[in-house]
Amino acid sequence: MSKSFDVVVIGAGTGGYVAAIRASQLGKTVAVVEKQSALGGTCLIWGCIPTKALLEHAHALKVIQQASEWGVTIPSGTPTINMTQVHVRKDKIVGGLTKGIEFLFKKHKIAWVKGTARLAGPGTVEVVDGDKQTLEAKEIIIATGSAPRSVPSVSIDHTRIITSDEAIHLKDVPASLVILGSGAVGVEFASIYRRFGSEVTIIELVQRLVPVEDEAVSAELEKSFKKQGITVLTGTKVTKATSSASGVSIEAETPDGKTKKIAADILLVATGRGPVTTGLGAEEAGVAMERGYIKVDDLYRTSVPGISAIGDVITLGTGVHPQLAHVSSMEGVITAERIAGKHVQPLNYDHVPGCTYCDPEIGSVGLTEAQAKERGYDVTIGVFPFGVLGRARMAGESEGFVKIVADKKYDEVLGVHMIGPRSTELVAEAVLALRLECTVEELIKTIHAHPTFSEAVGEAAHAAHGAAIHM
Ligand SMILES: Cc1cc2nc3c(=O)[nH]c(=O)nc-3n(C[C@H](O)[C@H](O)[C@H](O)COP(=O)(O)OP(=O)(O)OC[C@H]3O[C@@H](n4cnc5c(N)ncnc54)[C@H](O)[C@@H]3O)c2cc1C
Repeated sequence: MSKSFDVVVIGAGTGGYVAAIRASQLGKTVAVVEKQSALGGTCLIWGCIPTKALLEHAHALKVIQQASEWGVTIPSGTPTINMTQVHVRKDKIVGGLTKGIEFLFKKHKIAWVKGTARLAGPGTVEVVDGDKQTLEAKEIIIATGSAPRSVPSVSIDHTRIITSDEAIHLKDVPASLVILGSGAVGVEFASIYRRFGSEVTIIELVQRLVPVEDEAVSAELEKSFKKQGITVLTGTKVTKATSSASGVSIEAETPDGKTKKIAADILLVATGRGPVTTGLGAEEAGVAMERGYIKVDDLYRTSVPGISAIGDVITLGTGVHPQLAHVSSMEGVITAERIAGKHVQPLNYDHVPGCTYCDPEIGSVGLTEAQAKERGYDVTIGVFPFGVLGRARMAGESEGFVKIVADKKYDEVLGVHMIGPRSTELVAEAVLALRLECTVEELIKTIHAHPTFSEAVGEAAHAAHGAAIHM
């Protein structure tokens, strides 16, 4: 006998589990089908959480390596990382958080159906393995997420040529690591393994690192990476990668058209992620697709009434849809509220913060200087370096800057781009500023406590008006 629910969610990542909780809060009966043995999806199991845990280990090692500067005496010997303990701690954090979602499901009386789901006709979801059954649903939310993908010239063997799924579990620190791709995932692993002791080379097809960021941020990161001993090859295309028992041979075409050969222990492919829809039966159910992604409107309705989709698996058909945990969660909330009959509004994708936890870290929101110019704004910018701030000097973290991009005519803040200490936290103020259509003047008039890193945001606003106080 089939079980009936108001809402059946397929996938318990940050999109799916948040949509389920919100729908339950609004009085709906909810089931979530998840094929993994734990809840939380990419973010909790392979993504945000384990990578940031590794980055905290890298940060701890950095502080210990600089012990003498802090006046801390360490018994003789070079501090090194113990990967066994790293994984024990990381796995404990991941386990605790996934269990936390199980608790939330119980609290909200959400049924967790363990297995792989397939659309099986209007309002019907079939669980084809695990806890096999048929579920009837008034509304279905597809939140099946994404998985790593490679480039045509490189095939992943999961041993020597790996993805982020394996990079979070490496038992030993590789002596040499080549990273293909300098998006958030690529530069985060570059920071982690360089600090752990690997020789790291990062290869990027585009002419600069972190290509989605403001150009000034890319330049600052490249400067810092080079200082840390990371080899940066931009404008370079990997044409071949062959793995053997002893390592990987990589061939790449450099900007001058020459072939460069690189040997490494491990090649990490970080060239992006593709949608997970295999076996889902979406096309058979009549759901419109685009390049493998599920096509949705601005309130996440697919082409089939009663079926919505959110998160990494979707395209809005208007450029690149950001594959970020907080985006999937917000889409989940909007979808659950729409289904429950609440008034909802489309998300403004210009206001999505991007946080990249490399060292130095990056936080950004809104238009880059180049994008603002492309959209025809008469642009003014204000830049303030962290190096001038007392708080940053105390922390020994004085690289980077805050850059504000604003419209000269109305003084509106269009974008804020920062690289340096605590940028992934400081960006929250900028997100609110954009949401409230704040002017530069209002940021100047906002009191920033002293001594804090946030003073850099206030000072960048002053700089946008040509008058930074401490510069
Ligand atoms: C290394 C790495 C680091 C990252 N760091 C960050 C970060 O710092 N900040 C950030 O915002 N984002 C980060 N991301 C991106 C973030 O993890 C994703 O954007 C987010 O997890 C997407 O959520 P989702 O719910 O759409 O999909 P997912 O989290 O991928 O969840 C989909 C779920 O659906 C399940 N599923 C799929 N098909 C079926 C089926 N047919 N039946 C049942 N279950 C199914 C899967 O098992 C999975 O659990 C990172 C990603 C990676 C890989």
